Amino acid sequence: MSDPETKSEADWKRELSPQQFEVCRRKGTERAFTGKYWDCKETGTYRCVCCGSELFHSSAKYDSGSGWPSFYEALDPERVKVTEDHSHGMHRLEVTCRRCGSHLGHVFDDGPQPTGKRYCINSVSLDLAKQDPNA
Ligand code: FE
Repeated sequence: MSDPETKSEADWKRELSPQQFEVCRRKGTERAFTGKYWDCKETGTYRCVCCGSELFHSSAKYDSGSGWPSFYEALDPERVKVTEDHSHGMHRLEVTCRRCGSHLGHVFDDGPQPTGKRYCINSVSLDLAKQDPNA
């Protein structure tokens, strides 16, 4: 695989599934309650499906009722990038992978404490590296 920061859209299209490409590179959204992780309670680290950067940990995952995997914080705030998004007639804050620029989802201010944030992330943008919860 080539360096994720210098990949062309043609490279991404070739390497990703059609749904991954649509969400990660075209800022699409998977349908609620259809992704593989919205109801996942496994322990582990959620990585960027496009570049492998470790983005979220299961310890910050909670059931938001939205149908998308939801986290109250990123594993490291430096690994995600938050930008203003005015698409679809809404004002939202888009979350992307800082390393490769892939679209992940949006962040809202209606999450639980201690942060009050809800990172609402597409399952298809993530790849869970499971850990033994007793390790
Ligand atoms: Fe990435």
